[in-house]
Amino acid sequence: MWIIPFVALYEICMRTKTMGPAGISQRLVREGHFLEATSRGGRRAILVHFNADAGRVLGIDVGRTHLTMILTNLALEIMEQRSVSFDTDRGPEVCLPILISEIRTFVEASMVSWEVIVGIGLGIPGPLSVDLRRLSSPPHMPGWDNIDIWESLHVAFNKLLYIDNDANMGALGENHYGAGRGTSDMAYVKIGTGIGSGLIMNGRIYRGHRGSAGELGHLTIDENGPLCVCGNRGCLETLASAGPIVADTQQGLSLARKLASEDNSLVYTPVLSSRANVDIADVVVAAQHGDAASIASLERAGERIGLVLAGLVNLFNPEAIVIDGSVARAGEILLAPLMRVAASASLPAAWKDTKILPGELGVTAIALGAAFTVLDAAFGVHAHSVPAASPGAAASILASEHFLNPALPKDEIS
Ligand SMILES: [Zn+2]
Repeated sequence: MWIIPFVALYEICMRTKTMGPAGISQRLVREGHFLEATSRGGRRAILVHFNADAGRVLGIDVGRTHLTMILTNLALEIMEQRSVSFDTDRGPEVCLPILISEIRTFVEASMVSWEVIVGIGLGIPGPLSVDLRRLSSPPHMPGWDNIDIWESLHVAFNKLLYIDNDANMGALGENHYGAGRGTSDMAYVKIGTGIGSGLIMNGRIYRGHRGSAGELGHLTIDENGPLCVCGNRGCLETLASAGPIVADTQQGLSLARKLASEDNSLVYTPVLSSRANVDIADVVVAAQHGDAASIASLERAGERIGLVLAGLVNLFNPEAIVIDGSVARAGEILLAPLMRVAASASLPAAWKDTKILPGELGVTAIALGAAFTVLDAAFGVHAHSVPAASPGAAASILASEHFLNPALPKDEIS
């Protein structure tokens, strides 16, 4: 069930050049497309139910090493899903044509006509420009700075198109469809190759002055620590993201530290230290099978993330913090020490009733948030989070006969 404010309905009337709002609402209610509801809070509203199958939305999660694409219906149910490997290190000149080609292949393989695709939402790692068209000095993707990604995709597809930071998209996904449902102040923290967060305040993405809010991975926790890609030392990301956890495990550093603190003379048999091409998924699996070095490195990362989250709790006082990303797949091994430190290092008043939750949407969180952004902008589900969207977007889409004439089963009206 969607709620379109009066202004959006008025736009639809103007674009379709049919009749005034009262007239169109009567016609559409009579025809079964829209169901008029009682006013809420003095603002006239029309409850609208679309046939979920009247259109499709493309949600894309561009990762540094993967691409996850979903096609949803208008109820944001995932109809098709595909993940392929991707490598942003090859630069935008190579990657953008591949991205466009992968999207085309995915849509064609899904047997979906481009005509029914309402729009494309895309999450990408790194801070974006204020107009949400290009990456702005992305620390992990230096060659992508200031490249107009929006323009490339717009030229290729000519669809309603929204791009945002991947953590912001993940925050929207988990906030509307996952672990953060029902919360209006929430942080989504993605811990993978990098560490980033999307902040939702009063139900909307908080962007800050220039749009870069949420760069949790670059909070300093050791000013003499390892050099970070951002140029500073000892950022959280240099100590608790996937790469450093793998290195820690292979060198047995956190395990040695833990054993020394316990005065334990355990003789450890290395499991992953001699293996090549170990990644975070290997460490997580080894930890779940009881490997002491993998457990110790994940616990140490959890403590460090918990310390930074205590600061987030003190400053922002969220109702929920949703933890996601490849490192978060370790589950309780990471979350237990993370929660212990977050609880003890934050102020009791700020910590009280804060929920720290694993993400529920897995690899589709970002793509789903991206698809949500398109629907939100097109149909005004919420006061959407994308500043560039025009209020006429819904009108132009709804003005097509296709979307104005969905078959609406009566039993779906509620
Ligand atoms: Zn940094």
